[in-house]
Amino acid sequence: MGIISDYQVREIIKYCLKTCGCEKLPVKWNWFDVLENDALGHAEFQWEKPGKVKICEIMISRYELIKSDISTQIITITHEICHLISWFFYGTQIEEHGIEWQNMMKKCGISEPEAYYYENKELLYAN
Ligand SMILES: [Zn+2]
Repeated sequence: MGIISDYQVREIIKYCLKTCGCEKLPVKWNWFDVLENDALGHAEFQWEKPGKVKICEIMISRYELIKSDISTQIITITHEICHLISWFFYGTQIEEHGIEWQNMMKKCGISEPEAYYYENKELLYAN
């Protein structure tokens, strides 16, 4: 089945940031072999002070992702970036998979059923 390339990951990040109007958000990303709870991906965001981002990072599990098809891989990466974008715009107090995150997913081209499908899958894989 194969795994998405670094180039494709960078392109997805660029696309999501552009389509959500936050191209300058300093997103870092990394491959990981095993994440906590066997999650496919993980996102972390922290403000240093208002207006200044301290941590804005996604981690993607190579080990878990390689078991999924390419569209699930794309949804996973988009899912994690949308966490960063919604925390950036609305703060980290919002509901993790609430309306703000869902709207970002839609903007990035992931329809509701797909997002929810992923939600279920994510629940299965925990996190
Ligand atoms: Zn999530």
